Amino acid sequence: MKNEILKVDKGSIAEELGIEIGDRIISINGTEVTDILDYRFLMSDDYVVIELEKVNINEIWELEVEKDFDENFGIEFKDQIMDEAKSCKNNCIFCFIDQLPKGMRKPLYFKDDDSRLSFLQGNFVTLTNLTDEDIDRIIKYKISPINVSVHTTNPNLRVKMLNNRFAGNIIERLEKLAKGKINMNCQIVMCPGVNDGNELKRTVLDLYKFYPYIKNVAAVPVGITKYREGLFSMEIYNEKSASAQLMLASKMQDEFIKKIGSPFIRLSDEFYVVAKMDVPDKTFYKDFDQLEDGIGMIRIFRDNIEKSLSTLDGKRKGEFTLITGSSAYKEIKAAAEKISSKNHKITIDVVMILNRYFGETITVAGLLTATDIIDQLKGKGISKHMILPGNMLKSGTEIFLDDITIKDVEKNLNTKVLVCDYTGDDLVQIINEYSEEDN
Ligand code: SF4
Repeated sequence: MKNEILKVDKGSIAEELGIEIGDRIISINGTEVTDILDYRFLMSDDYVVIELEKVNINEIWELEVEKDFDENFGIEFKDQIMDEAKSCKNNCIFCFIDQLPKGMRKPLYFKDDDSRLSFLQGNFVTLTNLTDEDIDRIIKYKISPINVSVHTTNPNLRVKMLNNRFAGNIIERLEKLAKGKINMNCQIVMCPGVNDGNELKRTVLDLYKFYPYIKNVAAVPVGITKYREGLFSMEIYNEKSASAQLMLASKMQDEFIKKIGSPFIRLSDEFYVVAKMDVPDKTFYKDFDQLEDGIGMIRIFRDNIEKSLSTLDGKRKGEFTLITGSSAYKEIKAAAEKISSKNHKITIDVVMILNRYFGETITVAGLLTATDIIDQLKGKGISKHMILPGNMLKSGTEIFLDDITIKDVEKNLNTKVLVCDYTGDDLVQIINEYSEEDN
């Protein structure tokens, strides 16, 4: 049922008014609530009249609410956006979903492109399925920031890359949002020989015209799995091509740093790893706002380990197996060596897991599955404690991408799995906690 309430917070205004789980919000101040954006906007007033359906007693209540405009009313809806998520109208040449193996969880195949999910969960949207009215609503409701998958500002190229003849008007869309004072985080999936080089330069310079509404642009390399039969023929970056993109970006970054004090465009860590170049220092990443795009993870991990080394307990001993993907292997190995050199009785065996599930060209730890971990470690005599980064798990759960749980891994490998923050923040703390007193 649309707008059904799933949770009522204890002690909240909603509870005081007698709202219960299962009730439905029909309208607020006489306006029908069609989705979460309507709800949030209409509730951001200090006096609201709510029309509520009391489902279990079959009555309609009218509730007058006086509150601070930003005070939490205290309800959660069964459906997070109170509506069906919008799917994308594109058929991108680099789409990762098109390259998934068969038989995964159904929601993983859903191609969402919904500005409401962008606002609520940080999903990226292409803006290709929005009407002018939708954009007006984003501006009216101040849905900011929005995460936009730009890929290129060249209209013809964007039409080709997104395989959508309506995708070419990105500049007009961004302009309208910027005029409406909506902040945008932009992303570019870089495809070798397609939208990099001079095309990248053009895109970045076009996007800079919308500064400060666009403050950061993230560029990530295309991910290619082994399931690409029948799809656009796509290369992946190698040492030479990744270095060339980093050099090109570096010239632009120097200019932007002079103008606005920040590099504006940043390339993800994978580029540096493939190019065999070291990542910039922390000032380059400023507030590390693009960690979700894999930008600055190596830097923050290295600095966090360095910072936390002084808290390593020198009176303990223990053995750990630390697993990671091939991309971060060298960095994690260096961190493990630092820890062991500070306390020789802590040994950390860093194991690189190859991504056989999607294909070995996928190198990031966040796309490793439990299937690969189990297959590659079974019978290898791993330590009593196995540490893995939390980004291998579905957010807020103990479930891997292939639906296998931590408990299954523990059972199969006869180990205790410890989940570490992917920024390395709590690695030393975990080692202190799970090592033993050295008498
Ligand atoms: S917008 Fe493109 S990349 Fe994203 S889901 Fe749709 S087709 Fe795939």
